[in-house]
Amino acid sequence: MSEYPPEPADAAEPQPATPPPSDRTRVRRLPKRGRYDRATVDAILDAAVVAHVGWVEDGPPYATPTIAWRVGDRLYWHGSSASRMLRATDGRPVCVTVTHLDGLVLARSGFNHSVNYRSAMVLGTAHLVTDPAEAEAVLGAFVDHLYPGRWATLRPMTAKERKATAVLWVDLREASAKIRADVSHDDPGDEAWPVWAGVIPLHAVAGTPEPDPSVPDGTPVPRVEVPIVRD
Ligand SMILES: Cc1cc2nc3c(=O)[nH]c(=O)nc-3n(C[C@H](O)[C@H](O)[C@H](O)COP(=O)(O)OP(=O)(O)OC[C@H]3O[C@@H](n4cnc5c(N)ncnc54)[C@H](O)[C@@H]3O)c2cc1C
Repeated sequence: MSEYPPEPADAAEPQPATPPPSDRTRVRRLPKRGRYDRATVDAILDAAVVAHVGWVEDGPPYATPTIAWRVGDRLYWHGSSASRMLRATDGRPVCVTVTHLDGLVLARSGFNHSVNYRSAMVLGTAHLVTDPAEAEAVLGAFVDHLYPGRWATLRPMTAKERKATAVLWVDLREASAKIRADVSHDDPGDEAWPVWAGVIPLHAVAGTPEPDPSVPDGTPVPRVEVPIVRD
């Protein structure tokens, strides 16, 4: 991929208006793609359903895919209270990433092939939500993140379900975004090579809802045009 080879010109590129919140969050490779303003970071996080939580316990690193959602200045994820990742990350450093794949960049050489993307990376310490009221509120936000307005329509959570569910968060103080949205694929000198070059855009698409067999006839079907596909 075209980011891999060293590019000595990187350091001379224009920097984004909002500076990185810390040195370790500063995008060094292709810094022109870096963004640190909360509006950009929040938009990327809010458009995602899946994140990867990177963590380390006793040596080897893990990158666990999971659902994540933002409430204010915190990014949350949840799971079984018995989950190793959830128990291991409380109070420990994590690196949480979110990625949207926006296009395939087909260049005239293999070297210049790439992808268009929006990604965010959050560095910080994970914390377990210990207050039951807060846990219930953010679990409601989780459901509404999957499908807006759904939480209010559901059977209330039981004490047993609440106990079985662990919720963790990391704050967004050290967050960065990186965006590649180029149509051009930077093929200098290769323009005459006789092969098509350009970007094939990719989008997530919602399909037709498939009802659970026990849903009575006449039950309103979720609309798929609400923003459940956020790309
Ligand atoms: C879908 C996708 C595919 C990619 N494919 C490749 C590939 O094939 N090869 C490749 O080299 N790179 C690829 N990248 C870019 C990759 O994520 C890294 O940015 C790049 O490899 C530089 O890594 P680095 O450790 O040298 O970054 P550095 O610039 O040294 O990272 C410093 C800091 O910048 C921030 N940062 C770095 N990368 C990101 C990011 N992607 N999103 C948000 N913040 C970031 C972090 O805070 C990090 O601590 C891809 C990115 C995406 C989203």
